[in-house]
Amino acid sequence: MTNRAFYENLDAIDPLNSLRNEFYLPPDTIYLDGNSLGVMPLAAHIRIKNAVLQEWADDLIASWNKADWINLPMRVGNKIAPLIGAGQDETVVCDSTSVNLYKVLYSAIQIARKRHPKRRKIVSEKTNFPTDLYIAQSLCAQFDMTLELVESEAIESAIDDELAVLLLTHVNYRSGAIHDMAQITSLAQARDALVIWDLCHSAGSIPVDLTAAQADFAVGCTYKFLNGGPGSPAFVWVHPHHVDAITQPLTGWMGHATPFTFDTQYQPATGIRSYLGGTPPVLALSALDGSLEVFQKAESFGGMQAIYKKAQTLTSLFIQLAEKECADYGLTLVSPRDPERRASQVSLSHPEGAYAIIQALIARGVVGDYREPGILRFGFTPLYVRYIDVWDTVMHLKSVLQDQTWRSDAFSARRTVT
Ligand SMILES: *Cc1c(COP(=O)(O)O)cnc(C)c1O
Repeated sequence: MTNRAFYENLDAIDPLNSLRNEFYLPPDTIYLDGNSLGVMPLAAHIRIKNAVLQEWADDLIASWNKADWINLPMRVGNKIAPLIGAGQDETVVCDSTSVNLYKVLYSAIQIARKRHPKRRKIVSEKTNFPTDLYIAQSLCAQFDMTLELVESEAIESAIDDELAVLLLTHVNYRSGAIHDMAQITSLAQARDALVIWDLCHSAGSIPVDLTAAQADFAVGCTYKFLNGGPGSPAFVWVHPHHVDAITQPLTGWMGHATPFTFDTQYQPATGIRSYLGGTPPVLALSALDGSLEVFQKAESFGGMQAIYKKAQTLTSLFIQLAEKECADYGLTLVSPRDPERRASQVSLSHPEGAYAIIQALIARGVVGDYREPGILRFGFTPLYVRYIDVWDTVMHLKSVLQDQTWRSDAFSARRTVT
């Protein structure tokens, strides 16, 4: 564990290592930010080139049928399905996570009100990703509900007979801590409440089984661990026993039962297709469609189980080595120490220099990111991050801390996106 050769050897015997060749990786870069924007899969580039030069440029309007553009949201949804434990035709890809959260939270509130008209409480986590809370605030104002924000440890005790909807993110974006989806879902459902899971940091990162957990609703983004490209559309999943119970609020023509009859009256499609709104972003969906091929290739290496196993080894080694080499420099582990409770990232805090330390590392080609308050995030995406990257990153981190290069003014100027 204390020399580079140890890590080189782990790469040499790692069956997943060959999947690294499926990606374009910028030279001289250790990319540890796949939890924010995944690197570009070569298949995405090929697929989007074809979508532009053939389907768009040559075939134009014919591509809606010829290239089956019209069914891309469902086809890509079916490629994501095995990664989240969804059945066939239960997942659709459209809009952003924020917009899909609006749809599913609206639906969950309507179902909860039918069951228990007096219940007013929506519970989420204080440290949830802000967009989830902002969307919940909007729906609370609209339907006279109250949003109660609790600490992670207090979620189970907030589940009571007042609870209408529990809105949680499965993997915390700051710490990488994983919630027990099956257990929390069953506790909430025992009180007849509904549960929405945000899978932004779970899909493509850790094994997820929505069907086994009997979750009610799920959403997630595709530009993080699914490598769909900047701003690629999000996915939405609704349990089959809810999907036709409520009409989601953004009733656009693509969610209509028969869009091309151009009826004056809205009539929802059956199934998850009704969660579509407007025209799909074909180019972005095409890139994502290509990106997901690598997960199909990963099946022969053990799929998500093997990917997550490697993530646990990468993050455990990183924690051990960083704690050994950088013990004197004021870093504290923010992520859970137990690898079973930790997804594919390691977060460390530093009392004064977190932002500047990340900038100093980026200047050396080690790309992590900064999150408030005072957190350095390192994402380990096993499809393209190697074991030697763990060693090299810790050596860079140690050097930046030891030489105090992070104190240079150049590293403290905040950019718009951190
Ligand atoms: C990244 C992320 C989002 C992003 O939502 P967008 O609508 O795609 O901007 C939402 N929720 C969580 C938990 C996230 O990590």
